[in-house]
Amino acid sequence: AGSGKFFVGGNWKCNGTKDSISKLVSDLNSAKLEADVDVVVAPPFVYLDQVKNSLTDRIEISAQNSWIGKGGAFTGEISVEQLKDTGCNWVILGHSERRHVIGEDDQFIGKKAAYALSQGLKVIACIGELLQEREAGKTFDVCFQQMKAFADAVPSWDDVVVAYEPVWAIGTGKVATPQQAQEVHIAVRDWLKKNVSAEVASKTRIIYGGSVNGSNCSELAKQEDIDGFLVGGASLKVYFYCWA
Ligand code: PEP
Repeated sequence: AGSGKFFVGGNWKCNGTKDSISKLVSDLNSAKLEADVDVVVAPPFVYLDQVKNSLTDRIEISAQNSWIGKGGAFTGEISVEQLKDTGCNWVILGHSERRHVIGEDDQFIGKKAAYALSQGLKVIACIGELLQEREAGKTFDVCFQQMKAFADAVPSWDDVVVAYEPVWAIGTGKVATPQQAQEVHIAVRDWLKKNVSAEVASKTRIIYGGSVNGSNCSELAKQEDIDGFLVGGASLKVYFYCWA
């Protein structure tokens, strides 16, 4: 792990019911979490209020997406203002499922990040390459291009955590090796140093996501530039957070 406070984010994606979420929240409330770790969970929008009203304040709450600007006539969208109103203080932006299933592009995501930050929401900014991009030797190009779209839009990196999530590792059970992850994390940090500032490069937490679980997380966490995890599947079970 790097120098920043270790960060564990649980992305519940489009999973859960009132009952299963109530069980997970009560497990989280009684879990023994490490003191020096930021823990954030991202429930589906419809359960944000339920989670906010029942979860310990020790754990922060994130949304999984937000609208690009102020709310209004945007059917089906959820605004940053509404998220703040429910007690969310984070939002995940640029998740691969939004990029590749829903079709959000780099600029759109960058603008969303800028708007969320401008309203005081912290951002988990996701980047990562597809399998064919990795195989074509384009991993760094893709990640740097996604980083540039964030950098072009955001005025400050103070409230941003970068999540490197190789798309081939998300939900596939095929976790990146600690070396594969570290290689990209250090490259992204170096990109921040060259393109933003040395201070931002050293302060910004770069977390890894993609099939992280209780058995593979310790080796990953030992890597110099891995400052935490964004976890999907394993985040629906409480034991993962306890490791952290
Ligand atoms: C994610 O969705 O951010 C993720 C990393 O999923 P999983 O842990 O299931 O691969």
